[in-house]
Amino acid sequence: MWLFITSLVITSFICNSPAYAYDNNPLQDICVAVNNSHASVFVNGKICKDPKLATPNDFYFSSLNFSRDVYPKYGIAVTIVGVKEMPGLNTLGISTSRADIEPQSLFPFHMHPRATELITVLEGTLYVGFLVPDPVNFFKSRLFSKILNPGDVFVFPIGLIHFLYNVGHKKAVVFGSYNSQNPGLITIPSSIFASEPPIMDDILAKSFQLNKTEIAQLRNKFS
Ligand code: MN
Repeated sequence: MWLFITSLVITSFICNSPAYAYDNNPLQDICVAVNNSHASVFVNGKICKDPKLATPNDFYFSSLNFSRDVYPKYGIAVTIVGVKEMPGLNTLGISTSRADIEPQSLFPFHMHPRATELITVLEGTLYVGFLVPDPVNFFKSRLFSKILNPGDVFVFPIGLIHFLYNVGHKKAVVFGSYNSQNPGLITIPSSIFASEPPIMDDILAKSFQLNKTEIAQLRNKFS
């Protein structure tokens, strides 16, 4: 009997434990983001617009059927639909994106500090992968990679470095979903080699086990 009661107490404790999300769960039905702090309420994320003033367009975004302009250096185009682009996403913990990748072009190593990314391939053939740190040796990692075709879905866990390489002969189109209204995007090579102010050569040389001439060459490529 006591065992039963004890297990019941433990079970109810576990079931009543709060679920932890990286974005706050909404505390109200809607919270359309506004920049004007007058006559508004700060809840979490951004300041909320007075719900009476919210409009259908706050919850709307269009033109995701088109590619943005391609970054010539990389051969990729990205459209992010987060809280900045769609204020009604505020506090909802979700956002979306579209990426267009030219044949033989790479969406380089990057990570999203606040979200897991779930991708769906609409067009093209991609070789994608993410790196999981080795739990016993933090100087090593394990690569999880896959060739993806239209209709394929793949997930990049939160905070892990990943890439998408178009290995096909036509443009690839990928849609992404994120469990954050503001997933963040850190592109590893350029954020390191094109920082402002620049990181000392010595630090870069030691980090990448290169000499200073090689570091200067890399800096030129990313500036
Ligand atoms: Mn990504």
